Amino acid sequence: ETRRTPLIAGNWKMNFDHLQAIAFVQKLAWTLKDAQHDYDDVEVAVFPPFTDLRSVQTLVQADKLQLKYGGQDVSTHAAGAYTGEISAGFLKKLDCDYVIVGHSERRYRHVESDETIAAKAKAAKETGLVPLICVGETAKDLERHEPSAVPANQLRGALIDFKPGDEFVVAYEPVWAIGAGAAATAEQAQNVASVLRDVVRQVVGDETAATTRILYGGSVKSDNIVGFMKCPDVDGVLVGGASLDVDEFAAIVRYKK
Ligand code: PEP
Repeated sequence: ETRRTPLIAGNWKMNFDHLQAIAFVQKLAWTLKDAQHDYDDVEVAVFPPFTDLRSVQTLVQADKLQLKYGGQDVSTHAAGAYTGEISAGFLKKLDCDYVIVGHSERRYRHVESDETIAAKAKAAKETGLVPLICVGETAKDLERHEPSAVPANQLRGALIDFKPGDEFVVAYEPVWAIGAGAAATAEQAQNVASVLRDVVRQVVGDETAATTRILYGGSVKSDNIVGFMKCPDVDGVLVGGASLDVDEFAAIVRYKK
């Protein structure tokens, strides 16, 4: 049986300037150190705004933290006349491990297509970053499709350039559960996660499907994390709102305790 190291990831969205980021990461690192958190047992990552990443890198290097971090989005392009965009190469230079692609706030507010998201995932992968590919259905999608239909299609679209051995993480984030206060049930998360693992199997292959981590995201808190982590196909969580409070995020990371 393949062991997939659980990943607990915090998506800060547009919160915390670089000074607040330093204070937060320091406090998180101290809290987890006090609790003797084993980062090899449960991996921890944060996704700060771009302007914070250099500060986070400096702190992680100086204190030799095992905390992982990444950007919240990435350009499909490597360099050039793309005002406002950030390339995968720039993120890699800052020692990012991961980058989020296809978050619903990008898909819907910035009208990103499956093709754009596939190109972002490809750019990340080719630069040595692990893309964290977000998929999920809206409440409206649920009126017309079964729960896994839209996320499965989005994942198929995102993975067209992926081959066996390529590393990526999937986050199943039902849009109706994001920032809603009410999460999906563990059973709902498991059902869609298992369909998404089948998609990985069909598109990329058996071995990749066995090793790829599939996260749940949408109103995760310290009081509902345990149920999600018991699901056989859920290998971690992507946390928005609750990742902005150090004690709450640390409690989510320490879900085994
Ligand atoms: C998210 O937007 O990725 C998310 C999971 O948000 P929240 O935890 O606030 O629902």
